[in-house]
Amino acid sequence: MKVLAAAAGVQALALGTRAAGRSIGLVPTMGALHEGHLGLVRAARRDTDLVVVSLFVNPTQFGLREDLARYPRDFEGDRRKLQDEGVDVLWAPPTEEVYPAGYQTYIRVEELETRLDGASRPGHFRGVATVVAKLFHVVLPHRAYFGQKDAAQVAVIRRMVRDLNFPLELVVCPIVREPDGLALSSRNAYLGPEDRQAATILYRSLQAAQARYDQGERSAAALRLILFETIASEPRARLDYAEVVDPDSLLPVDQVSSATLLAVAAWLGATRLIDNVVVGKPVV
Ligand code: AMP
Repeated sequence: MKVLAAAAGVQALALGTRAAGRSIGLVPTMGALHEGHLGLVRAARRDTDLVVVSLFVNPTQFGLREDLARYPRDFEGDRRKLQDEGVDVLWAPPTEEVYPAGYQTYIRVEELETRLDGASRPGHFRGVATVVAKLFHVVLPHRAYFGQKDAAQVAVIRRMVRDLNFPLELVVCPIVREPDGLALSSRNAYLGPEDRQAATILYRSLQAAQARYDQGERSAAALRLILFETIASEPRARLDYAEVVDPDSLLPVDQVSSATLLAVAAWLGATRLIDNVVVGKPVV
């Protein structure tokens, strides 16, 4: 596995790989890798010839009062995990490589960036869209792998890929969970034992709503109420949002008549966690 820092070196390798007729798969990450990330890596390894994993804790997607400084970092552990998965290139640029002095170009997906996590974290998706566009330009992937865990991020990137004609396919991989249902997240490391236990309330709220959907409930308001009430039943959790939305526009729906995203975000102490399920998927 090559470990590279400079964008120019990664781009040269990507151009050479494309010229040789080989395919490139990109997995963008912020490190502190867990099985959720490794699921994306394994999918990329199955599908493409050259697997590139980027590891960059992107400052522009963190708000002023957010956890950039204390975001978990474990470069050596990450390097070892990626090596074991047969990754070809680990691109871990320093901040100045991505945002050199004088940097001033940003991508805004104007409507989507204000919805779900974008409403609670102003500027977050501007940072995400900007860094992902840069990763795409440097790595030139045929396929880019993202987790359904960050469903609003998927909607933002999907829109950006369409709007800006990026010649690549997005591959969205399922949410990987702990045995008790908690979605894996680098931020789970922040949770003390009591908050860790309480954090299962996010998935339990989604399961409760999904169960009601399975029994025939189609009213978005009714499903949303179940999300609210379930999360409210856990005193350690503070709800950020509970929404029933179209997965592409992220706009609220009235009735669940096609694939619909049930998405929740909640604080456990100082840690903000998100989770979601999709109901009403067409059966193929
Ligand atoms: P992050 O390092 O948190 O920016 O995540 C990098 C990628 O891994 C994103 O596309 C996430 O959606 C994905 N990811 C994170 N956690 C999970 C999970 N539990 N299951 C599936 N994908 C995940």
